[in-house]
Amino acid sequence: MKDCIFCNIESSRKIDEDDLFYVIRDGFPVTALHTLIIPNRHVETYFELTEDEVLALNSMINKHKQLIEEEDSTVSGFNIGMNCGEDAGQTVFHCHIHLIPRRKGDVEEPRGGVRHLIPGKGSY
Ligand code: 5GP
Ligand code: ZN
Repeated sequence: MKDCIFCNIESSRKIDEDDLFYVIRDGFPVTALHTLIIPNRHVETYFELTEDEVLALNSMINKHKQLIEEEDSTVSGFNIGMNCGEDAGQTVFHCHIHLIPRRKGDVEEPRGGVRHLIPGKGSY
């Protein structure tokens, strides 16, 4: 796709790739080593991925979880996230999976994690 940033990413930004996915560090990281796993094929969301792509994605998530832990021993958790659709917060309409490393004390009260995407609904 001509105007899609993830179809046209500079190869120097890629930290890994296989036949189906490539991996970059997020340009505006939420935490240090915030990573994006991106299908080579232009699809808008996770829901258009094939079963083969979902399997390959899972391997890439696990591989980069381990690499991040090896690179930074302070990493003690992860959030894995996808914004699927504008109303869910998506801004780049080429599927990508956020792999966000977390560290003890990076926020005052981590309880609730991704539940905090609706302000005020994180705690229950
Ligand atoms: P979304 O809001 O669609 O889930 O996420 C888009 C992500 O792409 C954001 O986390 C944003 O920081 C990241 N991003 C946007 N433009 C670029 C870019 O040019 N390079 C990189 N590495 N990340 C980008
Ligand atoms: Zn694209």
